[in-house]
Amino acid sequence: MGEQQSILVPRVSSFPGHEARARAIVRWLVQRRIVEERLTPCGRTAGGLAHALAPGARLVVEQPQLLPFGQTINGLEIVTKRCIYTPTRDFLEEAGCPQCRREIGEALFDSLEEWMPGHTDNFSCPECGHEDDINGFLFLQPCGFSNLGFIFNGWGAAGFRQDFLDEFAERLGFPLSRVSVDP
Ligand SMILES: [Zn+2]
Repeated sequence: MGEQQSILVPRVSSFPGHEARARAIVRWLVQRRIVEERLTPCGRTAGGLAHALAPGARLVVEQPQLLPFGQTINGLEIVTKRCIYTPTRDFLEEAGCPQCRREIGEALFDSLEEWMPGHTDNFSCPECGHEDDINGFLFLQPCGFSNLGFIFNGWGAAGFRQDFLDEFAERLGFPLSRVSVDP
């Protein structure tokens, strides 16, 4: 069984009212028994507190037998500070401009030095000048840049069902990126 994290990130740099929305999402996931309400030490980050995997999760993934039941690290952790999520396996740092369609990955990933401390939410295409939230550019390998992120530890191999991802995005009010990370 893999330890791959599946990370769901709204495609917006500064999510308005992100902490309240995170609490609403947790209430929904607890109601459907996808995760446990109580925080227990089943996370990976400092402190390690997370919402453990619960039986209802079987209904929202493609391969329930690959869910990390019985593993010590299997919980949902929520990140409410600005963070960059990129895939860890074979990541090529490629990105495209939605306007001129040219490859601008190098400049975009360099610009994260400005994005990370919050100097800007946006990126401007060096080829055509098109400016948008950095999440509005094209990523062949999904990436996330936001002050809100949902880390499902060990759920990566099971694979979320599309209808679940659609409902998650609808409840967030923003489209989602799903980033796969091997910790
Ligand atoms: Zn462009």
